[in-house]
Amino acid sequence: MDCIFCKIANGEIPSATLYEDDMFRVILDVNPASKGHALILPKEHAKDLYELSDETASRALTLARDMAAKMTDALDCEGLNLVQNNGEIAGQTVFHFHMHLIPRYRGDTVKVGWKPYRLTDEMKTELLSALK
Ligand code: 5GP
Ligand code: ZN
Repeated sequence: MDCIFCKIANGEIPSATLYEDDMFRVILDVNPASKGHALILPKEHAKDLYELSDETASRALTLARDMAAKMTDALDCEGLNLVQNNGEIAGQTVFHFHMHLIPRYRGDTVKVGWKPYRLTDEMKTELLSALK
């Protein structure tokens, strides 16, 4: 399988690495949305969130928390978005699970958003019956 993030995560392709352990590598995004934009890559291939193993899934969030704290301290950002896309329709372009850590600064040009609409009672009933 020819997966660029497998190669980066496992060190076959060099990258600007901020952190590495037995399961993950954290790198700087080559096209950052803001100063310090980083990606958390598991070393084990999973296409997306749906394919993650239990261990990778649970350790990923612990690592995101620790990286967020470290980056906020070092970069002096005022907040941070944790973004994770699944599927082309959701904006995924590299099909190896990853999480974006996007530091936020006052006046930056980052856009992570949607246009909210009102949840009606009918929608609520339908969703609760489908998902509960
Ligand atoms: P996605 O849209 O799949 O959630 O995000 C993919 C991200 O990976 C993008 O932000 C893109 O800039 C980044 N990216 C793609 N290829 C490379 C690469 O070869 N090296 C690095 N460091 N980042 C990459
Ligand atoms: Zn991969």
